[in-house]
Amino acid sequence: MRVLLVEDEKGISSAICQVLKKENFTVDAVYTGTDGLDYALAEIYDAIVLDVMLPEMDGFQVLKKLREQGVRTPVCMLTARSGLEDRVRGLESGADYYLPKPFQMAELIACLRAITRRKEDKPVMELAFGDIQLNQQEAKLICVTTGQSVKLGTKEFQLMEIFLRNPRQILPKETLFDRVWGYESDAEYSTLEVYMSFVRKKLSFVGSKMKIRASRGIGYSLEEEA
Ligand code: CA
Repeated sequence: MRVLLVEDEKGISSAICQVLKKENFTVDAVYTGTDGLDYALAEIYDAIVLDVMLPEMDGFQVLKKLREQGVRTPVCMLTARSGLEDRVRGLESGADYYLPKPFQMAELIACLRAITRRKEDKPVMELAFGDIQLNQQEAKLICVTTGQSVKLGTKEFQLMEIFLRNPRQILPKETLFDRVWGYESDAEYSTLEVYMSFVRKKLSFVGSKMKIRASRGIGYSLEEEA
């Protein structure tokens, strides 16, 4: 899952990043309201963590503009203000959740899981196709026929998650790349190919009959072995 974090306090931002990465989220951190709006408009995020007090443009304005542009990405607003008025204003401007500072990291994780679960078609625990399952808590790929499992790295996990949500569909390289690497400027398309080979190795390691098929020049799809 990819999260956009808009928080100008560097210390809080890096603490949140650390915790989210540990939970297998991919995080892009930005520090101003303007950047937050720009990044969020790309609509590559599953959730946005948005501080209220931000330089250039406050969180309420960012959220209002996003919703005006039709961006429906779930938003969890963070703020030091815990007054009822701000809370109401936050919810009215389209926030899905309002988390007053200081908060426990566990609350933020729970909030992110709750607001992203709502828009998913399938319940979180049912990511499965053919003989494979994805255990999201432990980031493990499991083959139900052989009983073998293997731990996935963060990127491998994200790729597998996309394939399991869209089985038998050819997913364009660009889509996979944007969803997993997004704004990481040092990544290249060749990186995607390297990771696809890792994922394939892990599928065969657990003894799965599922294959990732490459459609030359277009993309990849997860399919049963012919
Ligand atoms: Ca702030």
